[in-house]
Amino acid sequence: MKIIRTTRAMTSWSERLRRDGVIIGFVPTMGALHDGHRALIRAARLRCDALVVSIFVNPTQFGPREDLTRYPRPITKDRALCREEGVDVCFEPTAEVMYPEGFQTVVTLPDIARRWEGEARPHHFPGVATVVTKLFGMVRPHLALFGQKDYQQAALVRQLAKDLNLGVAIEVRPTVREADGLAMSSRNIYLNAEERMIATSLFRALRAGKQAIEGGMKNRTAIERSMRKTIEQASGIHVEYLAVCDPDSLEPLTRFTHRAVILGAIRIGTIRLIDNLLIHLPGKKNLARH
Ligand code: AMP
Repeated sequence: MKIIRTTRAMTSWSERLRRDGVIIGFVPTMGALHDGHRALIRAARLRCDALVVSIFVNPTQFGPREDLTRYPRPITKDRALCREEGVDVCFEPTAEVMYPEGFQTVVTLPDIARRWEGEARPHHFPGVATVVTKLFGMVRPHLALFGQKDYQQAALVRQLAKDLNLGVAIEVRPTVREADGLAMSSRNIYLNAEERMIATSLFRALRAGKQAIEGGMKNRTAIERSMRKTIEQASGIHVEYLAVCDPDSLEPLTRFTHRAVILGAIRIGTIRLIDNLLIHLPGKKNLARH
């Protein structure tokens, strides 16, 4: 496995392969790799001839009071996982490579990025949209894979790739979970034993919401209220949002059809966790207004 740190080396590696008709897959990450990342890497490996994983803790997507400095950076372990999974290039740009002197351009966000994470973390999506655009320009992949775990981010990247004609196909893969349902995340290591136990209540609330909808409940506010109750039974948790949304626009659902997504974010002490569940009601269309 090659480790590449500069833009020029990365781009010329890709260009050489592209000229030979090699299909390049790409999994962007911030490192601290876990089985969720591993699943993305495996799926990419199956679809592509050559595979690039980037590891870059992007400073511009963290707010001033967020966890940039303490974000885990186990680079040796991360490289070992990439090697194990047959990654061809581990792209590890530094902040100076990514944002050299004179860097100025920032991508303007689509509507889809306005609510939820966009509201809770105003710095986050401008940083994500800009770094993903830059990474696509540096790596020049044919296909890039993202996790459903970050549902709104994946929707934003899809829109970005389409609107700006970035020439990359985007594939979104299902969330990989721990045995008790907690979505895997690099931030889970911040949780102490007690916090780890209550962290799973986010997934339980989402699942309760999903079951309510599948059981025929159509009142969005009532569903959201009952999910919130499930979580608030565990002390020490603050709910940031729990919302039943249209899976395409990410606006609160005003009309139940056969598809929805429930988005959630909670805080346990200083640790922030997000998760979501997609809902498909087969055969049911335009159930009712509420
Ligand atoms: P991150 O390193 O957190 O920036 O995540 C890199 C990629 O891995 C993103 O596309 C995430 O959505 C994805 N990812 C993170 N956690 C999971 C998970 N539990 N299951 C599937 N994909 C994930």
